Formats: sequence, structure tokens, C-alpha cells
Amino acid sequence: MLVWRGIRESMAPEMIPLQHTRSGSIFMVWRRLQIGLTLGCLTALAGCGALQLNPFGAPRVEHETIAGTPTKHSFRVSQFVFYSDFEVQRNAPLFRDLGALREQVFRELQLPSSSALVQVYLFEDKERYEKFMQSKYPDLPRRRAFFVAQPRRLGGGEDLIVYTYWGDRIQQDLRHELTHALLHSVLKDVPLWLDEGLAEYFEMPASWKGVNYQHLEALRRGPSGPAPCNLDRLEQLSEVQQMAPAEYREAWAWAHLMLRSTPQARQALLSYLQELRTNPRPGPLKPRLAQAFLSLDEALQRHLEQLDLGRPKGSSGQ
Ligand SMILES: [Zn+2]
Repeated sequence: MLVWRGIRESMAPEMIPLQHTRSGSIFMVWRRLQIGLTLGCLTALAGCGALQLNPFGAPRVEHETIAGTPTKHSFRVSQFVFYSDFEVQRNAPLFRDLGALREQVFRELQLPSSSALVQVYLFEDKERYEKFMQSKYPDLPRRRAFFVAQPRRLGGGEDLIVYTYWGDRIQQDLRHELTHALLHSVLKDVPLWLDEGLAEYFEMPASWKGVNYQHLEALRRGPSGPAPCNLDRLEQLSEVQQMAPAEYREAWAWAHLMLRSTPQARQALLSYLQELRTNPRPGPLKPRLAQAFLSLDEALQRHLEQLDLGRPKGSSGQ
């Protein structure tokens, strides 16, 4: 099975006024249309290259890479191998941050680290990226970035691939997509809602402690008050097309509740993730999480209400 995840709209983020507050100020959320596809076709990525490391640790392509992807420059940071046709500042803070992201994800989720390489194709600009995507995957929607877990044609296992371009939100986009890649490098599978909830959690700067302020504002002050949440419904979603921005927000909220409320809630998630290391279909998470609270829905609302809406000062996150 070919799995697509974490796909962002490729247009510039769109600011949508939601409502005027009583004080007259306007708050907004970014429209986040994130759609993914699960495709059964293995021919779409014909010619994918296998990577080996030379004695100096730099990646070497053993055979042909995916036609049309950047190939001129490559360098490795942690588990990630970046390819581009333009000079990338390898010592840029972005890459140190992504190396730290790997440690953060595995440490916070108490997962064993993986040595599986993730191929990250960085196109120079949106035009080149979209041209490649449209010629290679004409049926896919236009989004800013894609993650794909692609079964290898030989030898078993999966190739973990990210496509994106050097845009204004490159750091957030790469943190999101690489979170998917890290999860898929150590787990047999990840339920769609949890995959996206964790990617939304980790895409923000580490110092934000998983708070996605745009989601939090929308959930706390939606047009008709606090947004209703329903984990049963979320867990039944199997196609990313079923996930609208509201589902991404809710997925983030549950992820944040599990990781940042009580030790029992955290343990419910960590145990579930441990099970996913060997069992791709462990069943719903809700019954396990429900044991951590008297009322799960009330616990989520209370958790969201007590989070501070003020963003950390001096942070560069978006
Ligand atoms: Zn995602």
C-alpha cells in the first residue's frame, strides 16, 4: 500500500476572518486544507533509488532516483537526506532544528530511534515543485508538501519520501512531514487521525510545547462557541479526504490532551504507540484513553480552556 500523508495546500496560506470578538478585535485562523490519498498503485514512483552511505556518511545514490526530482546537491542531517538543485545553507538553523525534531519526537513518544533514511526532495520554488508534482502525479491535489511511504519493490520495507519546495513556511512544513516520516519509520502503521494529530503537535517550535495557537484559538472561540469534539467519529475516518480543517484541529487537540495533561492520558498514548510497533491495527484508542478521565469530552474542553492563548515571545514559529 502506498500511503500519502500530511499534505498542505500549495497556495499561500489564506487568512479567514472568523468573527469579531466583543472587544472588536478580529481573530483569524489559517485555512489548512490538508488532503492525503491512499493509493494502491506502485507504478507511480517507478525508478525510486536506494541509498547507501559512503564511508564519510554522505548519501550516495546507488541507482536511478525518482525521475524529475532534484539531484545536484545532497546532504544528510540526522535521519534525513536532503536533495536539491540549488545551494542550500547546510548549517542553517532550520537543519539543526530538524535534527532536534527527530530527538524530540522519539524522546517524547518514548519510541526507539530508527536508522531508516528519509529522502527529502527540496524544489527551489513553488513553480518547479508544482510542475514536477503535476507531471508525476496529475491526479493529486495541489498542496505545499507531501509525505509518502512507499513499499520497496525489492527487499521489503518502505521508502520514506517527502516532497516540498523552499517557501516561507518551509520549517513548519518540514517539521510536519518529517514527523509523519519518523512515525512511519518505527511503527507498522499509524491511524490517520493520530498521524495528523501528532504531526500538528510537533510542527510547531519545540519551545511551544505542542501548542498550535491557530488551532487553539479556533477551538476555543469558534463562531458558535467551543467546537464540539468526537473521538469516536475521528477514529472512524480512514481517508484523508474525509479530514477537513476542523478534523485536523480536533486531532491536534486530542494529541495535546494525551501528551500534556495527566500521566494516565500520556500513558494511554505511549502504550498504544508501543503496540503499533508490532500491530498495525490495534483497534480504537478511545477506550484506553477514557480510563484516564471521568468524562473524556469534558476533560478535553477543560484542557483547552486552561491553555494560555498568548504565544511565546520572540518565537519564530508561524
Ligand atoms: Zn499531515
